[in-house]
Amino acid sequence: MKEQLIFEKSRTGRKGYTLPDADVPVANASDLIPKNLLRGDKAELPEVSENEVVRHFIKLSTLNHHVDKQMYPLGSCTMKYNPKINEKTAALSGFANLHPHQRPETAQGALKLMYELTEGLREVCGMKAVSLQPAAGSHGELTGLFLIRKYHEKKGNPRKTILVPDSAHGTNPASAAIAGYDVITVKSNEHGLTDMADLKAKLNADVAGMMITNPNTIGVFESQILEIEKLLHDNDSLLYMDGANMNALLGVARPGDMGFDVVHYNLHKSFSTPHGGGGPGCGPIGVSERLVEFLPVPRIEKKTEAGKEVYFFNYDKPDSIGRMMGFFGNFGIMVRAYTYLRMHGAKGLRRIGENAIINANYLLSQLRGAYDLPFDEPVMHEFCLSGDRQKAKGVKTMDIAKRILDFGFHAPTVYFPMIVHEAIMIEPTETESKETLDLFIDVMLQIANEVETNPELVLGAPYTTPMKRLDDAYAARNINVKYTPKPEEVEA
Ligand SMILES: *Cc1c(COP(=O)(O)O)cnc(C)c1O
Repeated sequence: MKEQLIFEKSRTGRKGYTLPDADVPVANASDLIPKNLLRGDKAELPEVSENEVVRHFIKLSTLNHHVDKQMYPLGSCTMKYNPKINEKTAALSGFANLHPHQRPETAQGALKLMYELTEGLREVCGMKAVSLQPAAGSHGELTGLFLIRKYHEKKGNPRKTILVPDSAHGTNPASAAIAGYDVITVKSNEHGLTDMADLKAKLNADVAGMMITNPNTIGVFESQILEIEKLLHDNDSLLYMDGANMNALLGVARPGDMGFDVVHYNLHKSFSTPHGGGGPGCGPIGVSERLVEFLPVPRIEKKTEAGKEVYFFNYDKPDSIGRMMGFFGNFGIMVRAYTYLRMHGAKGLRRIGENAIINANYLLSQLRGAYDLPFDEPVMHEFCLSGDRQKAKGVKTMDIAKRILDFGFHAPTVYFPMIVHEAIMIEPTETESKETLDLFIDVMLQIANEVETNPELVLGAPYTTPMKRLDDAYAARNINVKYTPKPEEVEA
């Protein structure tokens, strides 16, 4: 059946609302609004009834895949279930109706929550201090790199380069470039870890720092981290941890103990706040002693006044890099992450880390025979397969990803990291049950079998989605965010 647009369902005069008769005099908009501000034509809006509006949006919400619908094994993105209690606390009127210009004396509860969230995050990663300001992981990267720049600047030379492994997420080199650094790529070795000889060859007095993801983007723990830390610090180069994979370390290991100087937290990954949708996000950073004085202002602090604890914003930090966000960051997201931290506590966080690792290893144990495994190393919370074997039969990883959609699962991350051919990167997260994992395993095994017996079937996928294959890159390559008026509108 052909999808009908809501505009096609429109019938003149049909209404989605009923208002009582006005009890004040009624006036025409054209009598109140200057003529040049009035539109010439009626707005092109569909005229539909209330239930058609509701069905329209409910239907749209189910056409989109989301984690409330089924597992979302998108590697590196940690698409864990977002507990609904987070939404409940964030909607409490004392939080939801706060005004950012309110005086801190009148918002002590909110400030206390922010303070305790920084303390909780600080503890989880073993850092010296935390800022909640950055609006995303990548924004945390930029903030962290500004701190590193300031650290070197204060010593008289900002230095020129940032080292980034070839397995890194694209935001790492992008953030380094925006922070004014040249990016030098460090190779991975046959275990998917940092190639130490290559690192030593590239480490010199120009290196401001190195960005490392640990566990890295193929899910392997960087076991040489202490050696790397010593090499860098002996050279007065700082160490940045991309904390996107923090889900594997929660309650188990801490970046601060490994000697990292900055780590960003992706609250929407490890701490169960909503992902994306263009909405507000939060990517706090934690720092070591070396960088505390440079953190963005305002810093949230606590003092005792007349025997009472008082929370306040401290702007008096002469060496701060300044602000990275309007006001104090995205507060509603902080409430959700705080709820998650408090719901789990220290023991619960450790179980999150352990179960994320168990789930990934279970999936890997069941899939390793059916797909290639380019780096056969002990994995943490995610792992990376290769579709090379299937490609030899004419079926690419993209085809496999599309076929997965037919079974109601979101596809894993594909073609990333770039060091793996035909990469299929799978991260189940701790929130999936064994039964769901088993369903996903069945799907992956069935598709591997289809590639052998009926590749045409996989090449024609997906069959169950409203659209088949879109041009994934078209919108990004042909950006048009500007409304172009029709010629007759320009004349008028
Ligand atoms: C998600 C991710 C990022 C970027 O984080 P955002 O919050 O999406 O900006 C950086 N590095 C890695 C490894 C990631 O998975």
